[in-house]
Amino acid sequence: MELKIENLSKTYSNGVQALKNVTLTIPTGMFGLLGPNGAGKSTLMRTIATLQEADSGSILLDNLDVLKEKQEVRKTLGYLPQEFGVYPKVSAESLLDHFAILKGVANKKERKESVEALLQQTNLWDVRKKNLGTFSGGMKQRFGIAQALLGNPKLIIVDEPTAGLDPAERNRFHNLLSEIGENIIVILSTHIVEDVSDLCAHMAIINKGEVLVKGEPLKLMNALNGKIWKKMIEKSELASYKTMHNVISSRMYAGKSIIHVYSNTQPGTFETVEPSLEDVYFANITPHKEPVTV
Ligand code: ADP
Repeated sequence: MELKIENLSKTYSNGVQALKNVTLTIPTGMFGLLGPNGAGKSTLMRTIATLQEADSGSILLDNLDVLKEKQEVRKTLGYLPQEFGVYPKVSAESLLDHFAILKGVANKKERKESVEALLQQTNLWDVRKKNLGTFSGGMKQRFGIAQALLGNPKLIIVDEPTAGLDPAERNRFHNLLSEIGENIIVILSTHIVEDVSDLCAHMAIINKGEVLVKGEPLKLMNALNGKIWKKMIEKSELASYKTMHNVISSRMYAGKSIIHVYSNTQPGTFETVEPSLEDVYFANITPHKEPVTV
């Protein structure tokens, strides 16, 4: 199975161009769409989920025209939006049953079976009778995945799923996603680099509506071999280093700054580092004096 997005563009009525000629081919498995806030991720996700129109371009799910055959697409699509509202006074089991009716699972026995299976799969079986208002962030996200999985979708879209989850909840959520992602297309939209490096075999980085880089995380990291350099400096030196080098990131460590610099040749007393996906991300997102080639 394959989702093929070609030259997709969208400008909102306020003049913001949220998508600029986006072209991506997304195979079966987990695909990470990484970008900072405002990059255009949700716009792209909502367009694939048939919830909003593009101005131009095409999206094909195998032979299905996603922008035209919306009803057909919806039958095979699961969507977990960024803001997933739940009815606080309804139990997980009842709401999931209700969503199953909306998804068109009319047969009562079939519905019961699939609701039970999904509650088990998302590890919510023990709390199925509890009202959703009592659920933690992680439990709500897992409930969101359960409803997205109703009706055996071939394509699942998850928008910023781990924001606000504690590490244990995030871990549980990652395991759940990676199980699902074995046989269907799962698109994970996120601004968190580790979500992609932990889970996704394929990825793209978008910023300001444009695809900056796409490929396999490992290959993208390898392509930066020998080009990322690090140095520990005083915090007060940061501004001057930024004027001299392509500083792609800086983080605090024991009261000092560790900077990563992108350069084809060794810049003075810097040490070489093995590139991480975070380096790939920052090397592409950060404005440079010279273009980054990966
Ligand atoms: P992301 O999900 O990566 O944070 P979005 O797709 O939400 O990005 O937003 C992309 C850009 O489009 C942002 O500049 C945002 O302010 C703008 N935008 C998003 N939705 C709307 C809208 N309904 N009307 C006008 N501008 C919007």
